[in-house]
Amino acid sequence: MASTLFPDFPGISAWTPSIGGRGGRRHPSCPAQDRETILNMVTKHFHMHPLIDVPGHRTPAQIYIGAAREIYLFCNQRGYIDTWVYLFNEWYNPRAWKTWTRCTAGDRIPMAKTTMLIEAHWKVLKRNHLYHYNRARLNLLVYVIMDRYFPDLRYKFNRDTVIGSHATRWANEFTKEWNRLVGREEKSNANALYEPSTETWTCGSPSFLTSRYLICKYLVRRFATWKIWS
Ligand SMILES: [Zn+2]
Repeated sequence: MASTLFPDFPGISAWTPSIGGRGGRRHPSCPAQDRETILNMVTKHFHMHPLIDVPGHRTPAQIYIGAAREIYLFCNQRGYIDTWVYLFNEWYNPRAWKTWTRCTAGDRIPMAKTTMLIEAHWKVLKRNHLYHYNRARLNLLVYVIMDRYFPDLRYKFNRDTVIGSHATRWANEFTKEWNRLVGREEKSNANALYEPSTETWTCGSPSFLTSRYLICKYLVRRFATWKIWS
């Protein structure tokens, strides 16, 4: 499968178990010293997105091929065939790729990176409202959501978002991060290197790519030189 998807990857047919077989000398699976490098590469691939990707402005499909090529070449040059087979089967085949990377939604950048939000939602529902009911019936569940849980959520939403009388943890952390970035030194060739733009709020710097709040020092400093009061 991998060899039909990536026909121009060097040596790919010999490295594709379903087509080329897994012949040749077998190497042990990924040694410890390279695990972090691979993990960092996967993290970068997870974050890559057409709206951020500078320079190049690639499509999601091009990002996919580029990411697969990068990690394939890394494994191939070191002889980590088991690592590649695992990465391809579990993460880098087209079906798996769509389920975990941010560039799947090419025209927008998702704000949440994980399913933690929805998990937290269910946790509150189960522990605060349904702790007597192991398998609540659907009508009870709907009643509890509408009559018990929703009023709490509405109260919090009004307090934190509409009135803003109570700073959320998210806002506090954002403020701290912003203030830290305002004071940072920057590279003199940043404009050519990363093309930071406060208009589109995009930047090619590595820290912007992985930033939880989609900010980096280049954008923050171009936007304002002041700190936010907290
Ligand atoms: Zn940046």
